[in-house]
Amino acid sequence: MGEFRQAKWPEPIIFEVGGKGRRGYSLPRLEEEELCEDIQSYIPEKLRRRKDPDLPELSEVEVVKHFIRLSQMNFGVDNGFYPLGSCTMKYNPKINETLASSDKVRWLHPYQPEETIQGMLEIAYKLSEWLAEITGMDKFSLQPAAGAHGEFAGALIIRAYHKLNGELERRTEIIVPDSAHGTNPASAAMAGFTVITVPTDEDGCINIDALKSVVSSKTAGLMLTNPNTLGIFEKRVCEIAEIIHEAGGLLYYDGANMNAIFGKTRPGDMGFDIVHLNLHKTFSTPHGGGGPGAGPIGVKKHLRDFLPVPLVEYDGEKYYLDYNVPYTIGKISSFHFKFDVIIKAFAYILSMGAEGLERVAELSVLNANYLASKLVKIKGFEIPYGRNTFRKHEFVLSCSKLKSETGVSAKNVAKRILDYGFHAPTMYFPPVVEEALMIEPTETASIEEIDKFAEVIASISKEAYEDPERILRAPYNTSVGLVDEVKASHPRYMCLSWRMYKKKFKMGEKY
Ligand SMILES: *Cc1c(COP(=O)(O)O)cnc(C)c1O
Repeated sequence: MGEFRQAKWPEPIIFEVGGKGRRGYSLPRLEEEELCEDIQSYIPEKLRRRKDPDLPELSEVEVVKHFIRLSQMNFGVDNGFYPLGSCTMKYNPKINETLASSDKVRWLHPYQPEETIQGMLEIAYKLSEWLAEITGMDKFSLQPAAGAHGEFAGALIIRAYHKLNGELERRTEIIVPDSAHGTNPASAAMAGFTVITVPTDEDGCINIDALKSVVSSKTAGLMLTNPNTLGIFEKRVCEIAEIIHEAGGLLYYDGANMNAIFGKTRPGDMGFDIVHLNLHKTFSTPHGGGGPGAGPIGVKKHLRDFLPVPLVEYDGEKYYLDYNVPYTIGKISSFHFKFDVIIKAFAYILSMGAEGLERVAELSVLNANYLASKLVKIKGFEIPYGRNTFRKHEFVLSCSKLKSETGVSAKNVAKRILDYGFHAPTMYFPPVVEEALMIEPTETASIEEIDKFAEVIASISKEAYEDPERILRAPYNTSVGLVDEVKASHPRYMCLSWRMYKKKFKMGEKY
């Protein structure tokens, strides 16, 4: 295996580069000094600057070098395998970025009159129709800005629904399996519900008896992702839906794993009433680092009138923003929705077509199972729960045997993986698996990449049994080595802005 080495520039922060008076642009010199004065006079006195802002001054060449160097010390989906389970870090077609950043999109303003944004509304309307078709729902609202935001909106809809029926006072509980993504119980709690956790069975699915025993007239709803975070499809999902519906509760579907079932089955057909999708995981918006995302939510007919506004509608002649939704939970984002993300999702679905999306599900499942079949054979690793069941798009590898036999933990393995030019998988999640590495190759990984990743894990296993000490100090080949985790997350040492930096280490002193 060729050795990977990440760039390591001793790059100062941008305020320490450049020098007074340097500029990255050149503008024609103003002929008349007065013109300047004149412009100043347009700005009200109290809004005028008292002193120049403290900004770095650099030439264009210095700016370019600075940021290119930083980018070389970073890792992303464009330079390597990124099997971050649950997060779906796949390649997203670049043409979608080009479309989203075209002037026609960038210069739209949310205060523009509706008749001047008909094209945008048509795209939003069609996308929401397609998402409804893909998920088996009746109507989508594009308002929520992230998956967790969609969940929160969904939990508020559950609230509003029971309130309208006069049952909110007694329906105070939302049921969540113990393998759920942390945002599920958090969203339910934020919407004012008590969270009831149900355990996972040996087969990796919800324990149905435990579910039955917690369902009651207090049940407001259930939140579930299917396939779940173990990558296992809840086979008895229709039975689960029946149990919850019979008790008068609603079913919420966390759609972050939708790429596993595209075109194969739909949450609407499984009995779910509310769904969110993560456009930034499944529908071609790259994510990470807190960039823009979108978590549209869709509902069945009986919940349409609770959706967050505005909805996008079409009256046969024109598209319009509909704020006239009788029981709406209100507006949950500023303005309409994240239009750049919507453009990318629209372009993605349009270029993939129904067959293309189905192929995504097939390849992501094939890739995950192919990789899983290789990794279970490696000493020290196992895939607990549902031992003989196929996974969907992801699986969870346990390093607990490796840890007890060599002292090398899931964290150590994850750090050592970085030395080979791969991003680490998600660690210690879901909590039902000890020493968990949650792996999702996605449909865009090639067989060569997957094979290489399996080879890396095999060589890490070998090393763990022969020279565990070496793994404990990894990574060696990255621009940043093993970090002190306490220091890295302790507010006393954190320095997140130029202002903080100046306060802590007065100008001139070295950090
Ligand atoms: C990512 C994820 C979420 C939350 O979505 P965000 O967009 O990160 O808020 C919820 N559930 C699952 C299973 C996820 O993977």
